[in-house]
Formats: sequence, structure tokens, C-alpha cells
Amino acid sequence: MSTSAAASTPADRSRPTPPSPMTAPPDDGGQLITSPDPRTGPRPMLHGRRPGGEQLLVTLFIVLPTLALVTAVPFAWGWGLTWTDIGLAVSFYFVCGLGVTAGFHRYFTHRAFKANRALRIALAIAGSMAFQGSIITWVADHRRHHIFTDKEGDPHSPWLFGTSAAAVARGFWHAHLGWLFKRDLTDTYRFAPDLLSDPDIRRVNQQNVGWSTLSLTMPVLLGGLISWSWWGALTAFFWAGLVRIAALHHITWSTNSICHMIGNRPFTQRDRSTNFWPLAILSMGESWHNLHHADPTCARHGVGRGQLDMTARLIWIFEKFGWAHDVRWPSTRRLARVTAVQ
Ligand SMILES: [Zn+2]
Ligand SMILES: [Zn+2]
Repeated sequence: MSTSAAASTPADRSRPTPPSPMTAPPDDGGQLITSPDPRTGPRPMLHGRRPGGEQLLVTLFIVLPTLALVTAVPFAWGWGLTWTDIGLAVSFYFVCGLGVTAGFHRYFTHRAFKANRALRIALAIAGSMAFQGSIITWVADHRRHHIFTDKEGDPHSPWLFGTSAAAVARGFWHAHLGWLFKRDLTDTYRFAPDLLSDPDIRRVNQQNVGWSTLSLTMPVLLGGLISWSWWGALTAFFWAGLVRIAALHHITWSTNSICHMIGNRPFTQRDRSTNFWPLAILSMGESWHNLHHADPTCARHGVGRGQLDMTARLIWIFEKFGWAHDVRWPSTRRLARVTAVQ
């Protein structure tokens, strides 16, 4: 795949330099694998192809939870759904979701704050329980998305096929989940050398299957113990396991699809990212995606009045406890800078 789309046009060069989507070196331990700038580095963008067996698993874990979500609806009005299931599903949804938004995304991809070791590992584990792939792969894909946003090289832009109705429909499918069926693997040495050089994160990355298994077995165990029945374990598996995973998948994927197609662009016009308010709560603040592309390292994405951002609130709590520091909060100066870079 060519990287020529990253080359700037004369119009781009006349603009002030946008804030970098990449990050300052982490504060954490471990020897950094030094890497040249991943935008132009000598390493290839891709690192081989996903093996067939692994590809089958990816397909299964995309299709099965989605089918579960569809078949779930009639259950809601009949038997087999209790308050325990709802409580477990909501709890696991937000723990795993915030592991992705505060952990994988704002901390590991963009270094919007610094974290102590315990918090760093906890965030890596919580995100790994969301069935969104291993942490280093996730971060590498997402950094590639920021570097090549809506151009060739972006792993999941909806705008790679044209602007006709058919092309937009195809683009939506590709951005939402179609890209996951592609077998190209992002080169992690090029896009995530900082995580590869962190022994703790490498370990969590290697244990990804274990954390995913725990994400399914914990609801079963808790559902069984709370209801003291095998039936309670089964319904918890269904609602707090499969349905919860499917729901979080679709909300996360909506940031890639809907939030590059529908909504407002108050901050940056460099790409097609949008702010889409209806998903603010379920996406835990990630649907303020236009601000995020304008200022990727900012810890808060919902910077406007009334723009709910649960992830930013969680980072604020981490800061109050002293677990996070050097948080890159939005400031008047920072916002003026990103607004000027339109
Ligand atoms: Zn985006
Ligand atoms: Zn991002």
C-alpha cells in the first residue's frame, strides 16, 4: 500500500502545523525501542497477513455477538432477563468501554495523561476485556488512522470509495466493521514501538486471550453466584457476556463510521471527522470526534458547554486520587490554537 497520500499538498503546507496525533515518550519504565517518525519511517506500513485460524476467530467474534444482539430483543419481554443480568451487563459495558476509551485510546495511543504503573496495567487489562483485539494492535491501528485520516493508508475511513450513494454505503460498511475482515496487519514496530518496549504492556498483550476469556467467565460466575442457579449463570452469559460485547462493539465502531460521516465539524476541516451528540453517553465521550481529530492529545473530547464526556470525568477522578498526572486538559489557549488550524 502506498504511503504517498501522507504527502502534504501546497494548501496543507500553508497551514500552521497541527498538533501531533503521536505522543511524547511515555513516563513509564522499560527501554524504548527507538523509532524514526512513523509517518515516513523506513519500515513498511503492514506486517504480514493475519493467519487463517486467527482470521476465523475474528470473524466469529464479530458475527456471534452481533447475532446475539439481534436475537436478544424478544428475550427482553419474556423470560430469561433479570435485574442481575442488566446490572452485570451495564457494569461490564462501562468497565471494558472505559478501559478502551481512557486506556487504549486516550492514554496508550495519545498519551493525554501520565499514569502510575498500577493504573497503566489496570487500564490495559480493562481494555483487553472488550474483545477489540490486543492492546498493541489496537493502538497501532488507531495511530495509523490519525496519521492517514480519510486518505489512503487509513485502516477504516468511510471515504475511500468515492461519494456516490453506493460508494458511501460501501464506505459506511467498511468503516463500521468491514475493515475488520481485511487480513492486513498494521506494523506494530512502526506505529507502537513505545508499547513494544514496555514489559508490562507486552505481557498484557500476550495474555489477550486470557483477559478475553475472563471477560466472558466473570459474568457467568457472578450471575450464577448472585442467583445461585445455573440458569442465572446462563442468562448472565447471554446478556452481560455476548450482548454486552456486541453493544460495545457497535458503539466503538460508530466512532469510525458515523463520526466520520454525520454530525458537526466545529473544529477541524482537515478530515471528515464529526461531533455527533446522540452517542455522547454510550460512547463515553468519544463521539466528540471532531475535537479529538483537531487536538488528539487532549484528555477531554467534549469541550463545549454541556458536552458530556464520561471518560474525561474518569481521568479527572484518577488525577484526584494521584494515580494520573500531567493531564492535558483543554485550555483557552489550546482551544484557540486548534480552532486556528482549521
Ligand atoms: Zn477518527
Ligand atoms: Zn484517537
